[in-house]
Amino acid sequence: MAAFGSTRDATRNILHTESYLAQEGDRGSPRELDVFTFEREVVNGTIKVYNATRRKQRVREWCMALKAELKEPASHVEILDEWYSKFLECHFQPNKKVEELVNEVCGVIERIPRVVDEFHDPLVDQPYSLYDAEYFLPDSKPCWETLRVTNFVSRNVLRIAIQIQIVLGGDSNYAEHYRLLLDATAEALREMISLSREDPWPGWFIVRAFFWTSWQRGTSLYHYYVLKEQLTWGYDEHRDVIKTPLQGSDMMRIAENLNRARADACHPPYICKWALRLLREDKAVVGQDYRRFFERLSQAFSDREARCVISSDGEPAACDGRQPGKCLRLSGMRITNQSAHAPDCDGRSCSSLYWNEESWRGVGGAAAVSLVLGTDGRLNYVQASSKTVAVSHVWSHGQGGRPEDEGGTGLNSCLFRRYSRVAEMYGCDSFWMDTPCIPSDHVLRGEAIANINLIFATSKLTLVCDKDLMAIDFQDEDIATKEAIVSMVLVCDWNVRAWTLLEALRGRQNIHILCKNDVVVSLKDVLMDVCNQGSIDIAALFLSAQHLLPSQAYIHGLGNDHPYQSSQWIVNRRKGFVEIKEAAGLLSHRQASRPGDAVIIWSLLCGDTVFDKAEDIWRNQQGRGVPSGWLVSSYERLSVKGLSWAPSRPNFSLHGEDSPTDYDKLLLPYHGIETRVSAITERGLHGDWWAYRFKVKRTAWERVLERFTGGCLPLERAAGGYLDGETWCATLRPLHTYRRDVWVPHPRRLSKAVFAVVASDDGEAWRWKGVLELDEGVVLPQFRTMGFLIE
Ligand SMILES: [Zn+2]
Ligand SMILES: [Zn+2]
Repeated sequence: MAAFGSTRDATRNILHTESYLAQEGDRGSPRELDVFTFEREVVNGTIKVYNATRRKQRVREWCMALKAELKEPASHVEILDEWYSKFLECHFQPNKKVEELVNEVCGVIERIPRVVDEFHDPLVDQPYSLYDAEYFLPDSKPCWETLRVTNFVSRNVLRIAIQIQIVLGGDSNYAEHYRLLLDATAEALREMISLSREDPWPGWFIVRAFFWTSWQRGTSLYHYYVLKEQLTWGYDEHRDVIKTPLQGSDMMRIAENLNRARADACHPPYICKWALRLLREDKAVVGQDYRRFFERLSQAFSDREARCVISSDGEPAACDGRQPGKCLRLSGMRITNQSAHAPDCDGRSCSSLYWNEESWRGVGGAAAVSLVLGTDGRLNYVQASSKTVAVSHVWSHGQGGRPEDEGGTGLNSCLFRRYSRVAEMYGCDSFWMDTPCIPSDHVLRGEAIANINLIFATSKLTLVCDKDLMAIDFQDEDIATKEAIVSMVLVCDWNVRAWTLLEALRGRQNIHILCKNDVVVSLKDVLMDVCNQGSIDIAALFLSAQHLLPSQAYIHGLGNDHPYQSSQWIVNRRKGFVEIKEAAGLLSHRQASRPGDAVIIWSLLCGDTVFDKAEDIWRNQQGRGVPSGWLVSSYERLSVKGLSWAPSRPNFSLHGEDSPTDYDKLLLPYHGIETRVSAITERGLHGDWWAYRFKVKRTAWERVLERFTGGCLPLERAAGGYLDGETWCATLRPLHTYRRDVWVPHPRRLSKAVFAVVASDDGEAWRWKGVLELDEGVVLPQFRTMGFLIE
């Protein structure tokens, strides 16, 4: 048995028995990885594909057959491993010595948490003490940590780790294979969770623990692989395999609920729960383990008081993560001109520096602060260039105000000295920072904003300044500090703001972090070190911040010069811009203080042109498409003909409504990746939906008929509330991308039936009316696939 100590032997054994050795005369080689799926099967030489119902049945049959084998507790680990191993067939083609690979694989496995987070449901599973002693390590107290299955590294986990080490940095990408294996594992695991509730056999808990452990370890390895590849090659959102998220967020939620009390006790009191929500909601990190991430943050910020809310008894506390409007980190700070000082400044010998207006106007929107002050002691400006350090900071942390003498507070001379010092360190002649470089005047502000993309994209480096990151004392060799930096980047105030998101995305080629005592470190280098030497689970969480990694470089002569690829969107892609839906996803939990800025930022994430009306952003998308599933959310829509379906914002407004919004109740959009794409045309949105269409205004004769057929359906009644006197109504569900007549449930509301409601006067041109949620179980009429033009 491969207990934790003998992972080395098991790896060696796999490499010896599952490697492909080319024989003379071989015309080809077997597939390196072949993944089993419950969806398909080869029967008499023909591939059969099963529908969802049959597929689920097959999983259950497989689980029951496994149960029948598990009679002797003494052999349970071997049997479970043998059965799970059948999910994968391998023919490795090692490109280095076996011992070298064994060392690498063990090195990676050791950096995953030794035992994954607990999955024991006291309402379903019997207490540990009632299980046979054979299920636990010898001479140990029965608990999750001493179960043999949680200490065992399964063959499939080792196989993933082996293949990762073989292919890392090469030109083939195996992410898809790993994902298929993990999804098949998740499918089996989901069934085991159901079975342990329905079938009184206590062994389900052991089976589940084995699969849960393998699935969690596998996801860590998968995320590690994807991150390593991105660090090597650069990130391209359009080619990104992680766009298809892993299955299993439902099971993660179950585990989270089971472990809530323990997780709450471990939650670092200093960390904002809204920031944490942003992280947890990210589709790229499904299945991740947060324990060591919490541990790092708790250690690094143990002496800090929370800054989110002041509780009723006057104690500072973290917010609940449900109402951003109530968190002081996000919205408590008024937009005022505050003035922070550098750590080496006592504040007394410091003066405010104001602008030389003429100098700013002489350069225009792309003006950056020159390191040389004017003879009058005022800020001088030069054209931002590749010799500029672009400073990205959180306004509410108070690093100076607007540069005008009148109404501004200027920039403290100690801060000027600090940024000048950093700029000099990197051989630059200027620095750009919104406070001294964006004037308040409406026209000049517009001019400056139009240049932000360019400034961040061309600057030598982007320097991130955040209160909490600046508190970290960076020690070169200390991996714990590096883990603290990577962890804090994900939940600091800087990461949850909208403007800084834009700055970071544009400055992604070279992001640096300002730490304690003005030490500057490269984010990519720090992340690389954590990935190569630190906790893999912490590094993997960084996938939620892929937009901070350099984008893939434009390579001449590698097929990228094809005329088709020179079209604007390919150019944008190379520049690291993202698609409109992806941009909205990035902004869904990030706010700007100024109302109206959300739309400006949204447009600047997609391209160089600034739009301050959502209408113009969408019109600019004509000829492109949008996944129908993404549209099903309670975001506000535009009230413009042709665009009644188009969200008017990339997020919910922080301002406006009196009562602060509770995000646990709102229907946020989801990626919609597997749903059919609708086309954006001049007239409106064209696309197919899984639909039920009915006439609202019925003739007397139709009403009589209706009485015979049982009256108005609950769905019709509910949808009727959305109408303004239209004749026709239809309720829509998104269709699966390639499966015919298969609709896709809303992953944020798995226990509800969610519909988009559209209405029409003539049954031809439709208008978006809203999104309707019904309890699952309500009797629904027959839906079918229909095309709609939504104006
Ligand atoms: Zn908070
Ligand atoms: Zn000062």
